[in-house]
Amino acid sequence: MPRKCSVCVHPKQGLIDKAIVAGESYRDIAGRYGLSRSAVERHANGHLPTTLVEAEEAKEAVRAGDLLNEVNSLKDRALTILDTAEKAEDWRTALGCIKEARGSIELLAKMIVALQTSAEVDVLRSPEWLELRQRIITALQPYPEAKEALVRALDERN
Ligand SMILES: [Zn+2]
Repeated sequence: MPRKCSVCVHPKQGLIDKAIVAGESYRDIAGRYGLSRSAVERHANGHLPTTLVEAEEAKEAVRAGDLLNEVNSLKDRALTILDTAEKAEDWRTALGCIKEARGSIELLAKMIVALQTSAEVDVLRSPEWLELRQRIITALQPYPEAKEALVRALDERN
């Protein structure tokens, strides 16, 4: 399956993926790496979850785990700020946090599905992954719709 994505073949693909995960704007990322905004967006939506887990080498699998952790900690931070904002009845900040957390959770869900589909990846049987998967499913508890979609996607593959 040949790939024509200018991000996937970019020598700095790892850094670009990190910038996307960190929530930088597609326009900024595109500008910095000489890419088109639409290429970055297409890559972020279609390839990032898969490229993160297509790894065949252990090193790459660790990198996928790192990124999962990174997304997870971004989500945790957004939810912590949300707690504080809710207590202060600062609804504007609270709404912003919900939006941030939702973005992270959506990416997590996509990554889990991509991990689940790449059958050859041994990482799926590793205790670290099983623990991480459980943590992510737990993290999705307050989001019944996202959790249902995820559980359905996982079931279909088992
Ligand atoms: Zn791509």
